[in-house]
Amino acid sequence: MSTICAVSTPLTEGGLAVIRISGDNAIGCAERIFKPFGDKKVSGMPGYTCAYGRVIDPENGSVLDDAMLTVFRAPKSYTGEDTAEISCHGGVYIARQVLRLCLANGCTQADRGEFTKRAFLNGKLSLTQAEAVMEMISARGEQALRSARLTREGRLFERIDGIKKQLVTLLGELAAWVDYPEEDLPAVSSEAIESALTDAGRKLERLIRDYDCGMVFRRGIDTVIAGKPNVGKSTLMNALLGYERSIVTEAAGTTRDVIEETVRLGDIELRLSDTAGIRGTDDRIEQIGVSLAKKRLEECSLVIAVFDTSSPLDGEDLELIDEIRRLGKKLVIVLNKSDLGGGLDRSAFEGIEARITEISAKHGEGLDELREAVAELFGADEYDADSTIFANERQKRCAEGAREKIAEALEAVRVGETLDAVTVMIDAAASELMELTGEKATEATVDEVFAKFCVGK
Ligand code: GDP
Repeated sequence: MSTICAVSTPLTEGGLAVIRISGDNAIGCAERIFKPFGDKKVSGMPGYTCAYGRVIDPENGSVLDDAMLTVFRAPKSYTGEDTAEISCHGGVYIARQVLRLCLANGCTQADRGEFTKRAFLNGKLSLTQAEAVMEMISARGEQALRSARLTREGRLFERIDGIKKQLVTLLGELAAWVDYPEEDLPAVSSEAIESALTDAGRKLERLIRDYDCGMVFRRGIDTVIAGKPNVGKSTLMNALLGYERSIVTEAAGTTRDVIEETVRLGDIELRLSDTAGIRGTDDRIEQIGVSLAKKRLEECSLVIAVFDTSSPLDGEDLELIDEIRRLGKKLVIVLNKSDLGGGLDRSAFEGIEARITEISAKHGEGLDELREAVAELFGADEYDADSTIFANERQKRCAEGAREKIAEALEAVRVGETLDAVTVMIDAAASELMELTGEKATEATVDEVFAKFCVGK
């Protein structure tokens, strides 16, 4: 395999820049462009050792920089190949010049994620671990980093592998029974098959749920505050923000634009849009607001629908109720102005799947209940931050595929289809899981994973 090189640190000014070289010729290349002080020879350096010296252009002997060289010997390196890392001063120009020397001395430029891809191909990492490396690089908070680290340590692989082994054992038993009927092997009862499949399906279900929940913590929730003018949407948003953001007035229809803010509701981040309401209007500017509001409603993950609990629902409220019923989004119904006493008839909300909370946005009352309602809707109150979760949508897709195939197999057992047919479905489920871990990943999958990496990783 070719010897690759890249600048592994960001190409900006900094204290240090690291140029990484990996492949059969890595030490040879380092030997040509790096001269240790004293009588040390690069080719004689054992793995896990460093040398202090100079980067020199072998063409003309000119000195580029003082630097440190670290040597790793195959297979004990990140990639599993011979690797050399040059740490030089962190200027963009210097780093580029060292890279140029590497390229002129037997290396080719690494592709995105190629070091990690080689680690995967050399069996140093599973595909899930490689993806966790990427998650660790992009982790923005403690929760995200912790779960990426657990995956990097192989925990997700172990869990998926455990489920896969369960399926493979079942396949083995079925195959033996189907292929050697004369051997007098004990029959695999449909109860035993059902119970193994149900168990595997549940474990996958749990992983998928934890992923959805983990995403809530990682990315926040796109939320729309909806409601007719004057019910107190801006006041609620301000209460959540803890400061005055939009203009609050007594006149209906003042919140015309979509206003976006991010608030923290306990552990959860809400990306809020406070909208102009969705009523029909002749006002051109208001019409723009209304169509924007409808678009937001279509796209968001959570709707906080606000009503004025002190007065009866009117046509516009009912229009909103129809709209949210049609959208089928996760929903919290907020009955605002609880301080004014109730005049609103709740029967209009019957049959809608939603949490209903009473608040007084003006007085900041009931916000805790609102937070609890949101956390409960997203399962965040049961979320275990130490659970291992998928690093990305690709992994989740594979798990969902496997879960579907398992459900099909279960159904097939229940309706008494042939064991051959059941075997095919279980086999397909196991393949999905091997696609997930990378044991049987197609080239396209491997390329998809590593194309998202940065150069140098
Ligand atoms: P929006 O049009 O839905 O954004 O409504 P605003 O937030 O502008 O509020 C309209 C009016 O209702 C303002 O006068 C607010 O002070 C008042 N308001 C909002 N929330 C409450 C509340 O909880 N209690 C009472 N009494 N008045 C409120």
